[in-house]
Amino acid sequence: MEKIQNYINGVFEAPQSGKYFDNIEPAKGEVYSQIPDSQVEDIEKAVSAAKNAFPIWSKMSIEERGDWMTKVADGIANRMDEFIAAESRDNGKPIKIAEHVDIPRAISNFKFFATGIQHFASESHNMVGVGINYTLRKPLGVVGCISPWNLPLYLFTWKIAPALAAGNCVVAKPSEVTPYTAYLLCKVMDEVGFPKGVLNIVHGFGQSAGDAIVRHKETKAISFTGGTATGKAIATIAAPMFKKLSLELGGKNPNIIFDDCDFDEMLKTTIRSSFANQGQICLCGSRIFVQKGIYDKFKNAFVEKIKQAKVSNPEDPKAQLGAVVSEGHMEKVLGYIDLAKEEGGTVLAGGNRVVLDAPYDKGYYIEPTIIEGLDYQCRTNQEEIFGPVVTITPFETEKEVLTMANSTEYGLSATLWTNNLKRAHRMADEIDAGIVWVNSWLVRDLRTPFGGVKSSGVGREGGWEALKFFTEPKNVFIKS
Ligand code: NDP
Repeated sequence: MEKIQNYINGVFEAPQSGKYFDNIEPAKGEVYSQIPDSQVEDIEKAVSAAKNAFPIWSKMSIEERGDWMTKVADGIANRMDEFIAAESRDNGKPIKIAEHVDIPRAISNFKFFATGIQHFASESHNMVGVGINYTLRKPLGVVGCISPWNLPLYLFTWKIAPALAAGNCVVAKPSEVTPYTAYLLCKVMDEVGFPKGVLNIVHGFGQSAGDAIVRHKETKAISFTGGTATGKAIATIAAPMFKKLSLELGGKNPNIIFDDCDFDEMLKTTIRSSFANQGQICLCGSRIFVQKGIYDKFKNAFVEKIKQAKVSNPEDPKAQLGAVVSEGHMEKVLGYIDLAKEEGGTVLAGGNRVVLDAPYDKGYYIEPTIIEGLDYQCRTNQEEIFGPVVTITPFETEKEVLTMANSTEYGLSATLWTNNLKRAHRMADEIDAGIVWVNSWLVRDLRTPFGGVKSSGVGREGGWEALKFFTEPKNVFIKS
C-alpha cells in the first residue's frame, strides 16, 4: 500500500518514528494509503530546514520568488487530472467539485500571490519640515500553516501562497483526513526544483504534529483554519508566546430570504449554498430564514428539488452530493439530525444515511436534509453541524430576522436575498459576519478580506490582508 511521505528540506522522507496510520477513502470506507505519524522531531527538522532557507528566500527578488510560485501553479495545472482525482478520492467530494472549485482555486492562489506581491506597497508619512516616516514590511521568518479537510488543497495553498510570496519559509500540515493533494504538491515542487527548505510539508495528527508546529519557538506566526475549539486551543499556546495568529474558524451562517427576492435565482443558489460539498463548506448557509409571504412556496419548491438530488459515488458525473469525509463525521451529522427531532423539528426531506451499491456500500453518504419547526435558539440552530443539513424558519420583520441571524456565537458569512436596495445595505451593515453576499453566494475575489467575527475567528486572509499578516511593519523616520 502506498505510503505518503513528508517533504522536508526538498527531500521525501518517512517520519522518524517509522510509524504510519491509515488513510481512508470515504466513498468506499476502505483504507487506501498510509500517512506518516509525524512527531516533534519531524517538526524540529522541518523548522530547522525552513530557518536555514530563510536568508536566501527572503532576500530573493520578488520577481524571482513569483517565478518559482508560478512554476508550482503550472506544475499543478500540468497534473490537473491527477490532482482532481486525488482530491475527490481523499475527501469523498464529487469529482466535478474538485474539478471546478478545489484544484483551479489552488492554482489561482499561487498565481494571484506570485504577481500580487509585486503590487504590494508600504506606506510613507511625510512630516512637513520635520522629516519622513517610511514603513518597511519585513517577512517574519518561519511560519506555520495548518488547514482542514473540507477544501484540502484550496485552503492549504490559500495560506502557503501569501506566506511564501511575502518572503517567509513555511512548515505546513494538511488535515490528517485529507493529506494526498498536499503530497502531490510536494511532487510538483520536486519536479520544478523549488528551492529546498522553503516549503516543508509534514503529515500527522493535529494533537502531535500540529501542536508541535504551534509550540515551536521559531514559528513566528500560525495561520490556522479549522474548528473553533481547535482554534481556541492553538490561541492558548501561541498567544503567550506572542506569535501572530490568523484563525479562520467555524460558522453557522444565515441565509435570509425576503419576499421581494428573485425567487428562481434564489432557489437555485440556495440549493448550492445549502448542500455544495455535502454542506461541508464553512460558508454554507445552514440556517435559512424565509419571510412569511413566500415561506410555503419556498418550502414546497425547495423540498421537491432536494428530494430529487442525487447522492452518489464521487465519480458519477450526475452526483450532486458525494460522501461526507469520514465515518466519525457521518455519525456526528446523523447525531445532529436525531437531536433536531428530539428538539421538536420535523424532517421535511432526507434525514438518513444512504447505502449505495458495492463497491460503495461502506461509504459515508447522507441524504440532503431539511428540517423545520425549530426554535432559533435550540442547539441544532446554534451549533455547527458542517454537513448536508439545513433548517428553515419563517420570519416577518427585518428586526426579528436580525435577532435570529445574530443569535449564534459565530459570525463568518451571511447571504441576503432581496431586491430592496436600502434594505440590502441596512441588513448587510447590521449582520454579525465578516462576509455578506447579496443575491449571490460564494462569489470570491481573492483581493477581498476573508474571515469572520465572534467565534468564527481572528484576523483576515486574502489580498493585502494576508500579505500584511505575513509581514511585520517596521517604521523608519528620517529627519529632513
Ligand atoms: P479541526 O479543527 O479538527 O482541524 C483543522 C486542522 O488543525 C487539521 O489539520 C488538524 O489536524 C489540526 N489540528 C487539530 N488539533 C490541533 C492542535 N491541537 N494543534 C494544532 N493543530 C491541530 O477542523 P476540521 O479539519 O474538522 O475542519 C472543519 C472545521 O473547519 C469546521 O469547523 C469549519 O467551519 C472550519 N473551517 C473554517 C473555514 C474558515 O475559513 N473560517 C474554512 C473551512 C473550514 P488533523 O485533522 O490532522 O488532526
